Amino acid sequence: MGSAPTKTYCIIGDPVHHSLSPGMQNAAFNALGLNSTYIAFRVSAGELKASIQSLRAINIAGFNVTIPHKVAVMKYLDELDATAKKAGAVNTVNNIEGVLKGYNTDIHGFIEPLRRRKIDLSGMTVLLLGAGGAARAVIVALSEQEGVAKVVIANRDQKKAAELAKAGEALGLKCESMPFDLVMTASAEADMIVNATSIGLGNEPSPVDSDHIKKGTIVYDIVYRPVVTDLIEQAKFAQANVVYGYEMLLEQGAKAFEIWTGLEAPRDAMKKNLLGIFGEPT
Ligand code: NDP
Repeated sequence: MGSAPTKTYCIIGDPVHHSLSPGMQNAAFNALGLNSTYIAFRVSAGELKASIQSLRAINIAGFNVTIPHKVAVMKYLDELDATAKKAGAVNTVNNIEGVLKGYNTDIHGFIEPLRRRKIDLSGMTVLLLGAGGAARAVIVALSEQEGVAKVVIANRDQKKAAELAKAGEALGLKCESMPFDLVMTASAEADMIVNATSIGLGNEPSPVDSDHIKKGTIVYDIVYRPVVTDLIEQAKFAQANVVYGYEMLLEQGAKAFEIWTGLEAPRDAMKKNLLGIFGEPT
């Protein structure tokens, strides 16, 4: 009797060479002794349709989708679950006996670290920096929480901020938009600050400094590389309550793993892989 065939999973995106998902998901498969493997494929925008056809042909078990395909991939899938429909974007696809079904696990990934800390968002004013794909997942996640008082969306491109505010309102969230260069005034009033821009990825200085963060404010930087961004440094200096981007990355990946395998994700092994020998930041 032969062993079960290897199941193959992957991530598609461009660029994708920096992705931490292969390491994290392979660590999960190894921890549970699963005969599965996960690899990264660079797929440019023009190659998306052909790539999905190829993934179908090889009977891929499941895959993740990253920039720039999270919206475009939807038209090549057979089914979308409620999270994908609500977010208007897909980051996880499961192959269910030939049917490709799309999910959005960024919504769960964002909220889970707050839930684990037992943070109650009711009555809070949230300052959301950014109005791109990740910011949209944040808005959907916040709309599912009880009693968030208001979300103020600050973005360079004002039109995108206004559109996201409108989408948030449609989900029942009270939203406003504001110019990005005025964030310091809004940050001093916020109970939670979420950075969903790519500022920090290139070690850029934080758009908000410690003088404009109240003690005890929740500061959540979804940028995960570096683990400790300048915003996180400023937040610590202000004695804020910090949530790291790697936590969202871990939780969205754990949820994807659970969708694919039906097993509880080995979060410790995945976290260890993400953080490496240096472990949790202090
Ligand atoms: P998008 O390209 O869709 O959006 C980028 C956002 O960043 C836009 O709002 C853009 O503003 C803003 N921005 C970029 N550069 C600047 C700048 N110099 N000054 C002000 N605003 C700027 O990307 P995503 O939404 O997909 O991703 C955003 C970040 O979130 C990335 O760093 C990504 O790594 C991270 N992320 C983390 C996840 C996690 O699991 N932790 C999951 C998904 C994303 P404008 O519209 O004006 O151009």
